Amino acid sequence: MDNTTLRSRITGSLDALLIGDALGCPVEMKTPAEIRARYGTLRTLEDTPRPWWRPAGLHSDDSQQAVALCDALLEAPDDPAPVFARLLVEIFEAYEKGPGQHGGHRGTGKNFRVTVDKLVAAAGADPFAGAQPTAGNGVAMLAAPIAWRFPTEPARREKALLAVARVKTTDPRAVGAAAAVVEAVAHGLARGSLRDIDHGRWIDATAAAERAAGGGDGSVTHAFSRALTAMLARLPCPRAEMLEAIEAVAGATSDRPVGPSAGYALGSVVTALYLALDAPTLERALIDAVNLGDDADTVGAMVGAVRGAADGAGAVPKRWREGLWAKGAFNDRIEALVSGAAEGWRPAESLAASEGRWSRMAERARVSGEG
Ligand SMILES: [Mg+2]
Repeated sequence: MDNTTLRSRITGSLDALLIGDALGCPVEMKTPAEIRARYGTLRTLEDTPRPWWRPAGLHSDDSQQAVALCDALLEAPDDPAPVFARLLVEIFEAYEKGPGQHGGHRGTGKNFRVTVDKLVAAAGADPFAGAQPTAGNGVAMLAAPIAWRFPTEPARREKALLAVARVKTTDPRAVGAAAAVVEAVAHGLARGSLRDIDHGRWIDATAAAERAAGGGDGSVTHAFSRALTAMLARLPCPRAEMLEAIEAVAGATSDRPVGPSAGYALGSVVTALYLALDAPTLERALIDAVNLGDDADTVGAMVGAVRGAADGAGAVPKRWREGLWAKGAFNDRIEALVSGAAEGWRPAESLAASEGRWSRMAERARVSGEG
């Protein structure tokens, strides 16, 4: 693949990840009915309502963690986990902690806050000190950069994923979900389409990562790849029917009800992959993703990363790209990825510095909005 094409597809994946995250933030934890009542169909970047007010177009922790991983893979491609853990702490320390504010991380969930708090306590001694036994989407949402860094090297993708996943989770379902995202992004980068992805090879790569992550009996270890298999076997399928089926498969392995865009990997990650495969355009995929509500920012981020890689920068609606606070801010990373930067590469401005600045700007905007 030539560099112009690779640059366009990585840019599409990164920009659409940021957009999906920012688009979904205002409707996180909302139901589809609540979203309809307030926005009709949400198609524009909006402020996140109080009590977690954040300005339109500012990304949340999903994108922050993904870019942290990107930076870790550029700095230490063969041992990214310690750098990734260090960057999560640096972002945390780049802004104050307070009610509803977890340092420089924006829009965090409880598991992630525990992970970061434990990493802070470990003071760099153990990058895996904060791993939680959770089967959520917390690795899948940040994993796309592994495909950006190693677009043609599946063995290095799997090695990097297994190492980085252990910073956050010990559950093979979360690792399998992330592997499925990484392989879909890699396919999109290579082919410029998701239509011709080989289902058998995709499922095999996902199952291999689950086995390598281990830690469960057979029903747990292969739960994600089985859910992916069930979704793919149903294609093509009317939208409502597919979402019901995803919910049923996910619910059968959970002790509580799981919606199609719940944080549980078998819900939101399968749904994100389905929407990325099924929607006629990237724009439509993102709109459909966030209007499901629930873990809307994360589903948006995953759909954007996967479909954006296939469709490239040209498919990203200009009105959304222009509305991003981080528009163009990570272009140095994209150039480093495309040119195959040497180990030890660092950005001109650290991620913690830019994230701290954005958090301060957001706080000023919040205060002036109140005044
Ligand atoms: Mg978020």
